[in-house]
Amino acid sequence: MDLGTTNSLVGVVDSGFPILLADENGNRSTPSAVCYDHNGSIQVGNIALRQRALNPSRTVTSVKRLIGRRGGESDWRPHYNLSELGVTPAEVSAEILKRLKSIAENALEQNVSRAVITVPAFFNDAQRAATKKAGELAGLTVERILSEPTAAALAYGLDKLDEHQKVAVYDLGGGTFDISILEMRDGVFQVLATAGDTQLGGDDLDQALACFLAEKLSRPATDLHLLEAAESIKKRLSTDDTTEFHGVTITRGDLEKLAKPWLDRTRQHCLRALSDAKIKPGVLDEVILVGGSTRMPLVRQFVAELFGKEPNTSQNPDEAIALGATIQAGILAGSLRQVLLLDVTPLSLGIETFGGLMNIIIPRNTTLPAKAGEMFTNAVANQDIMLIRILQGERELANDNWELGRIEVPFPGGPKGSARVGVQFSLDADGILHVLARDTVTNSDTNLEIRGTAIDVADERVEQMIAESIEFAFDDMNERIWTEAKLKAEELLPAVEAALTQLGDAITADEAQTVRQHAANVRELLDGTDHDAKALKTATQLLDDATQTLAVLLLDRAMEESLARRGIL
Ligand code: ADP
Ligand code: MG
Repeated sequence: MDLGTTNSLVGVVDSGFPILLADENGNRSTPSAVCYDHNGSIQVGNIALRQRALNPSRTVTSVKRLIGRRGGESDWRPHYNLSELGVTPAEVSAEILKRLKSIAENALEQNVSRAVITVPAFFNDAQRAATKKAGELAGLTVERILSEPTAAALAYGLDKLDEHQKVAVYDLGGGTFDISILEMRDGVFQVLATAGDTQLGGDDLDQALACFLAEKLSRPATDLHLLEAAESIKKRLSTDDTTEFHGVTITRGDLEKLAKPWLDRTRQHCLRALSDAKIKPGVLDEVILVGGSTRMPLVRQFVAELFGKEPNTSQNPDEAIALGATIQAGILAGSLRQVLLLDVTPLSLGIETFGGLMNIIIPRNTTLPAKAGEMFTNAVANQDIMLIRILQGERELANDNWELGRIEVPFPGGPKGSARVGVQFSLDADGILHVLARDTVTNSDTNLEIRGTAIDVADERVEQMIAESIEFAFDDMNERIWTEAKLKAEELLPAVEAALTQLGDAITADEAQTVRQHAANVRELLDGTDHDAKALKTATQLLDDATQTLAVLLLDRAMEESLARRGIL
């Protein structure tokens, strides 16, 4: 089942073929609209949609934009008030799913009790859970919540199971935008990267066009008739160059001017997905278009320019996702050949290293399963235990990321840098992280298993973490440089101190004074709260330079001592 923002569809696998089912009027697509009548009756689909302009406060559309969200979380304002109607978004969605269920039951002349339901790849835990709840309220056992782009790729790739291809799925529907990059090989569908916006779709363009029309006609932009007119004008301009509305001529150029900034918002998501998947657009075998809004010539042109190739329009943009969901259901029910879907980690995994920095071991968007490791040593002499903090997140500083667990690795004390501890992360297909820490000197192992953390993190928090990592990238970088400069300064200061005591008589008072002054500058910066990384780096460098004479003298003296010991001098 494709529970869309605008339209919903249902299909089944019949004698090994996935097919979509039509209602009694022959329509395979049902508007995602629910009308709650005064007399308590509930209407769904086209009948409900026709009620919208007459009875707006009782007709719910685009409820997918609200599902699983807390009040105020969405900046989209509907023309209805669900609490006045006494229903939740999940209950409204359940009405749509009930309708799909009955379409299927009528077509198949049998009971339908299990379903696969699709959601945008970027839906977070709460949104997925609410969608699942809607299925249960509709009397269905939800066998799988499937990401829409993965469903689209399944629909595209089912007859190409023997081929090796990399494809992008560009899905611009009524309320959401999704871009995913997938790799298909040996019947395995692997998501390499995914990005998108849960609040971007054709609805926004309808709004913009309605405002444009309102201005031309001096009518209120909130008029629902105008919004409906805007949508049908928009659709018409996908095939016609001009159209007319109440004496006003609207050209495709007018629409495209409004659409440009809207479409531009998809660009950054595409670039991000490509860079996360570590591929250039030229490597893609196909860019598959899905979602009703990709019928617009401007969208096709935009995608062609962005990816440097003509997009693939082999899939019916309205049906590809429902078809993919049907295929998945067929696989789960055992009526279609097995194909595998592999997921990626949404956030980087790593450990804390010297100075409280995050050291990434498995980067975000790595395909599961994954394995990686690194060797670490002790930062101070005679340390006999190493604490390993396992972290998840995109920030430079350990404490800004989430701690998943910690392990302590004991090892025999020794000088700084003498220990050898290998840390290995392996992430299995279910997203369970196994951490192995091995003291390679004594060959003793410490193990830790962290369950489900890697893909359990609510997507909303993942999105926020990624947003913050960009927002704070500059500060974080300063902190990293600061920490590195600080480590260097802390090493240099005692060495300079020791050299001055040893060699104080061998240099001039002026020279000694200069060195002391530079050392004092460094200490002041270290003790300060400004954390000015650049200043500290410069001061440390000056101190290093000023101690050159000391260093040379120290070397000379060491040489003399060594020669004297061997009786040469
Ligand atoms: P969803 O997945 O959100 O339910 P769909 O994939 O069904 O959405 O796409 C619905 C959107 O596509 C609507 O905004 C609709 O106006 C738009 N749309 C449908 N057909 C066309 C068309 N021919 N030209 C432009 N936009 C279209
Ligand atoms: Mg859709």
